[in-house]
Amino acid sequence: MAVREVLVIGGGAAGLIAAKRAAERGARVTLLEKNDRLGMKILISGGGKCNLTHAGSMEELRAAFRSSEARFLKPCFYRYTNDDFLDIVHRAGMQTYVRPDGRVFPVEPSDAKDVVAVLERAVRQAGVEVVTGAAVSGLIIEGGKIAGVRIGEEARRAERVVVAVGGSSYPATGTTGDGWRWVAEAGHKNAPLRAALAPLYLEKVEPAWSGIALRDVTLKARTQAGGKEYAGWRGDLLFTHKGLSGPCALGISREIAERMALGLASGGVLEVDLFPDTPFEALQAKLQAELQASPRRTVGSIVGHYVPDRLAVPFAAAAGTDMQTRGAHLSSKARSKLIQTLKGWPLGGVRSVPLERGEVVAGGVSLDEVDPQTMASRIVPGLFLVGEILDIAGPVGGYNLQAAWSTGYVAGDCV
Ligand SMILES: Cc1cc2nc3c(=O)[nH]c(=O)nc-3n(C[C@H](O)[C@H](O)[C@H](O)COP(=O)(O)OP(=O)(O)OC[C@H]3O[C@@H](n4cnc5c(N)ncnc54)[C@H](O)[C@@H]3O)c2cc1C
Repeated sequence: MAVREVLVIGGGAAGLIAAKRAAERGARVTLLEKNDRLGMKILISGGGKCNLTHAGSMEELRAAFRSSEARFLKPCFYRYTNDDFLDIVHRAGMQTYVRPDGRVFPVEPSDAKDVVAVLERAVRQAGVEVVTGAAVSGLIIEGGKIAGVRIGEEARRAERVVVAVGGSSYPATGTTGDGWRWVAEAGHKNAPLRAALAPLYLEKVEPAWSGIALRDVTLKARTQAGGKEYAGWRGDLLFTHKGLSGPCALGISREIAERMALGLASGGVLEVDLFPDTPFEALQAKLQAELQASPRRTVGSIVGHYVPDRLAVPFAAAAGTDMQTRGAHLSSKARSKLIQTLKGWPLGGVRSVPLERGEVVAGGVSLDEVDPQTMASRIVPGLFLVGEILDIAGPVGGYNLQAAWSTGYVAGDCV
């Protein structure tokens, strides 16, 4: 029987696993990567530490995605699990650990560099021919079927092509959205592209706050001041010179970008609950007790217990009081306003959510045009689509790499 020729475009997370699996199944596989090295995005993942996947049952992992995405991912998540992926790195001698929030990382000193090295070795050992510096410029489709790819003037023929070129954020890493253009030309529909897991640029920035972190808070987006809360995320929040970053900001960025795309001004307004576990009344009782114990203390010294020092003055101003006022002189209305501000400090509107700064891009190849059992295109026979090019964007926590590993494996298994 003739050996099947498979071209995998993109040596990132999904392409590496797809190429490895296809070669293990006996295909002659060539992996074409535009950069002069593999896995550039894996290298910067998790701040260079690489949050490999998320721990727990695959049902739990699936539930972290939006329902249409979770439905699509079901077959491949069961076929290739977080443990299946971790088996590759463990067999290579790398140890991993699970953080309390379920995120899985290599045990230091191992990091993202070592993850890429393990995957590159595994791919080569499986017999994949790796070609770096190969920027694919288009697909060759003949008689409605895939027939190969073009690299500039050169044509490379194959009866199966796996497109694993990722999204379009962090374009300097090689992901410039090439795949969406190719598949659109081939007849696929792409869901509109939106920023996801991206920082938030605010309408009004306080440069002096840049670098301040708030730990374990809840950032909320409301339709308008006092309006409906339409997105919220609990975790750490970081002030930057352009607005907000950190898990909280990333966690609600997709919903805000979607609202802004609908033309809704500034995606609403943001506020932060500094004590998500403590109800208003409990904070009120705590403050009351503190004021009674030391009535001569100033608002400044009281506020210092609740917010980082560098934020004490703006916080007091947001609460409509001044730092020198003595606690004993605070009216009950002023005390309530202070607590209200602790539970919902207004941070204003969002100016933009930069798509190119997101950890992933939401939108992409419509899921109803890809067979979830095989990752084969329903439009072009012989074409397979995996990883971030698909209309899938999970939350922070290792979910997106797992989606890339699982979709990549299934395509490799089915080409
Ligand atoms: C800063 C940052 C941190 C992140 N951290 C995490 C994390 O810790 N955990 C997690 O789960 N997810 C993380 N992600 C998301 C994760 O990296 C992606 O979801 C994942 O890499 C997508 O895999 P992929 O294979 O689809 O695409 P990629 O890994 O982006 O790979 C695509 C590859 O295709 C190549 N390519 C593109 N166009 C062409 C072309 N025309 N010809 C040839 N090759 C081409 C690119 O150079 C690239 O190597 C992070 C993302 C970013 C940006």
